[in-house]
Amino acid sequence: MISVAVIGGGASGMAFAVALKQKRPDIEVTVFEKNPKVLKKILVTGNGRCNILNFDAVAENYFEACEFVRPAVEKYAPKKTEAIFRDMGLLLMSEQEGRAYPISQTAASVVCVLSSAAERAGVKVFTDTPVKSIKKSQGRFVINNDKSFDFAVIACGGAAAPKQGTDGSSFELFKALGIRVTELSPALTGICVKDMPFSLKGLRQYCKCTVFSNEKEYVETGEVQFNDYGLSGIPIMQLSRFIGKGKATATLDCLPSLTKNEITAFLQSHKFREPSGDVLCGILPRALANFVLRECNVKKDEPFASLSSDKALQIASAIKSLKFSVTGVRGFDFAQVTHGGAALSEFDNNTLEAKKVKHLYAVGEALNVDGPCGGYNLGWAWSSAFLAAESVLKEL
Ligand SMILES: Cc1cc2nc3c(=O)[nH]c(=O)nc-3n(C[C@H](O)[C@H](O)[C@H](O)COP(=O)(O)OP(=O)(O)OC[C@H]3O[C@@H](n4cnc5c(N)ncnc54)[C@H](O)[C@@H]3O)c2cc1C
Repeated sequence: MISVAVIGGGASGMAFAVALKQKRPDIEVTVFEKNPKVLKKILVTGNGRCNILNFDAVAENYFEACEFVRPAVEKYAPKKTEAIFRDMGLLLMSEQEGRAYPISQTAASVVCVLSSAAERAGVKVFTDTPVKSIKKSQGRFVINNDKSFDFAVIACGGAAAPKQGTDGSSFELFKALGIRVTELSPALTGICVKDMPFSLKGLRQYCKCTVFSNEKEYVETGEVQFNDYGLSGIPIMQLSRFIGKGKATATLDCLPSLTKNEITAFLQSHKFREPSGDVLCGILPRALANFVLRECNVKKDEPFASLSSDKALQIASAIKSLKFSVTGVRGFDFAQVTHGGAALSEFDNNTLEAKKVKHLYAVGEALNVDGPCGGYNLGWAWSSAFLAAESVLKEL
């Protein structure tokens, strides 16, 4: 009987196994998962709701990997993936910006539907079974120096969120088969800044954020959270993948809907109110207002009317561009995805088969593919899994 080994029982591994075994019940599909249960990470995605895909996803969303992902993302586009999940018994709903969630609003539904589809199809699942070694011998893949298989699919995820079973150590499996792995760095994570003011801790503010790193500027807008180590929130997470090893700055426009002149005019027209802290508290949260005043060397109880007109302009400028010196990004423990992975040049993007190792495939985050927040990373896990399953089917 033809046998297929799937290394990793996460999103992409389970989706691959189900897709293949449903079409070919006569072959043996075995999933090896190091955790006590499959799909552990899914439960923490989307704050427990699982932002399962993005209806607007296109290849261009995947940064440098856009050409590589095109065949998978176009063939298994979001609507097709939605239909596959509907067939399995999972209904989705969409929220703003194309974000899709299970209609039940709980990630547990995704785990339940995928696990039971695997069981119904007859996928063999070995939990608590880390794959520590893989080698090719006489045309077959020998796993843990024990069982051998005709095909192998590496679906081991990346190095982000090690508590979920993905600590990056499984990239050694690629290396053991002669496949190059690129440098890894955390993405979709917080940004650490120098001398983060304690008074801002816990604050949330809708901002336009600009990161300047490696001579390039990157911009995102949304709610920023101020923490003891620095900044987080969706726009900051999106920007984190662009922070390089050199010097970087993060600049926040704390009132993106107003121009500097509009803010200045507003402040001047309200200067009869005092103290200065009170003039600002109509447009900014108190902690941020006080911080801006401190940055401009104005005491919060100083009468605003006594300040020069230049000061109003200086305060407006500070509100429009609060600058932080970036010291790095938070580590893999706090990251949602990995930037880096098995080198894309080693794989045929029409099949996801390794160019040098026949019948070896890679799917999901194990490959050097990452997308923004909003369902794009799970979207890639599903699309790549379905394309790889289709490719294996053609080889049988
Ligand atoms: C907190 C958090 C929230 C997220 N929220 C979202 C979201 O809402 N939407 C979204 O699109 N993306 C989200 N992501 C990212 C998304 O979860 C991943 O990109 C996606 O799960 C990758 O799927 P995968 O199958 O490639 O890897 P994973 O889901 O990481 O699965 C890999 C599996 O392989 C197992 N494994 C690893 N090595 C071995 C080995 N040697 N032997 C056996 N088993 C092994 C691991 O235990 C794991 O179960 C989030 C990530 C985190 C951490």
